[in-house]
Amino acid sequence: MKIYNTLSRKVEEFVPNEDGKVSMYTCGPTVYHYAHIGNLRSYIMEDVLEKVLRYAGYDVKRVMNITDVGHLSSDADTGEDKMLKGAKREHKTVMEIAKFYTDAFFLDCAKLNIKTPDVVEPATNCIDSFIEMIQALLEKGYAYKSGENIYFDTSKLDNYYVFGKQSEEELMVGVRDDVTEDENKKNKNDFVLWFTKSKFEDQALKWDSPWGVGYPGWHIECSCISMKHLGEYMDIHCGGIDNMFPHHTNEIAQSEAYLGHKWCNYWFHVHHLNDQSGKMSKSKGEFLTVSLLEEKGYNPLAYRFFCLQSHYRKPLVFSYEALNQAAGTFAKLKKRIADLPKDGEVEETAVQEYKQKFIDAVGNDVNTSMGITLVYDVLKTDLNGVTKRAVIESFDQVLGLDLLKEETAAQSDVDAELEAYILGKIEERKAAKKEKNFALADEIRNELLTKGIVLEDTREGVKWKKV
Ligand code: AMP
Ligand code: ZN
Repeated sequence: MKIYNTLSRKVEEFVPNEDGKVSMYTCGPTVYHYAHIGNLRSYIMEDVLEKVLRYAGYDVKRVMNITDVGHLSSDADTGEDKMLKGAKREHKTVMEIAKFYTDAFFLDCAKLNIKTPDVVEPATNCIDSFIEMIQALLEKGYAYKSGENIYFDTSKLDNYYVFGKQSEEELMVGVRDDVTEDENKKNKNDFVLWFTKSKFEDQALKWDSPWGVGYPGWHIECSCISMKHLGEYMDIHCGGIDNMFPHHTNEIAQSEAYLGHKWCNYWFHVHHLNDQSGKMSKSKGEFLTVSLLEEKGYNPLAYRFFCLQSHYRKPLVFSYEALNQAAGTFAKLKKRIADLPKDGEVEETAVQEYKQKFIDAVGNDVNTSMGITLVYDVLKTDLNGVTKRAVIESFDQVLGLDLLKEETAAQSDVDAELEAYILGKIEERKAAKKEKNFALADEIRNELLTKGIVLEDTREGVKWKKV
């Protein structure tokens, strides 16, 4: 297995701390709103990483936090608490908002075949361990109190910019123009570990601490939650590329200051999904969610397929044209698999051979498009139908595309509105064919394919199914 490590900026051979075992941590969602499909790109690619490690035989333990406190509007320490913003928007309590959007997040994940990590821990569960770590950082001289907040002192480190100094300029994406400098900080990049003098009088969640009633900063939660479940040494830490600075940089600073040794060996960052105007947003433009794609008639797995077609270390631009194309290709691929003959016996040696090819391909820095290419390669071989199915079923443990799920009964999944639309299109196509307008007939068929609807011309007339 090989992984690009943001720490070394190289593709490295993956060697876990403990033979055969992998400890993996993922920065979870801030549950103040629905996840947009950009957020979910990160979780899809991290899911593939976890699954390919398991596929290659590693025993993986994966932990994820749920950010339900402390994440401010900017990724630095300014702006309003995102959770509070969500609660105000919906006239609900912060905990109601957290519960609602945590459930919504896992529902989206289920639709995208993203496995739930082994451990999921909300930040508000772990306040005591945050306080303990902050106390230790104060005792070791890495933290200071100022303006009644507790800050991490970045000047105490030889190399604060572990991912390279340019990351600050490149990746200060969370920080907006209206940021005001916090005068309590000794150094520009010092960050808050604990807020006691809240900027927000109405901060909803507060806890007692040795420094007064307050609440934790965002970064401390990931250090504590990962150590709580994975110990002092971690193999892989994941997140979107925007998390590299300041979030992950700060996690490393405080964790290694606390532990006194190197903490995590591999940093895996997924590049952004952008819309055509640039950064994807929950507040500006169309708020792209999984539910919105479903409302428009897309199978969520067509979006997973769209993500898997490109490499996670490249930015990806979302457009409906690009999604349509992916959805059409995906539906055709599923149809080819559904049409494979089902007789004969599985040739085990071929299955094992392809399994190894798949590990070599996808295990090479999560090269998902190579994994998809291998599916087509298998279809092209002269192996019998059941062997092809067995190989593809095996790949699908990692790809998570339900490639063999035959949705002949899936017409029941289609709502009445979509069904009426499909039947209308079938009629239009019939008329086009009658007029010998075959180009239009094909266009209609392809348009339906993008929605995962396959038309079949049979002796009894046109039949459709959802794949
Ligand atoms: P958040 O809910 O804001 O804490 O973000 C959840 C995850 O989504 C983090 O790992 C972010 O780095 C990641 N993320 C945010 N925006 C995007 C995007 N446009 N494309 C891919 N990942 C993103
Ligand atoms: Zn984190």
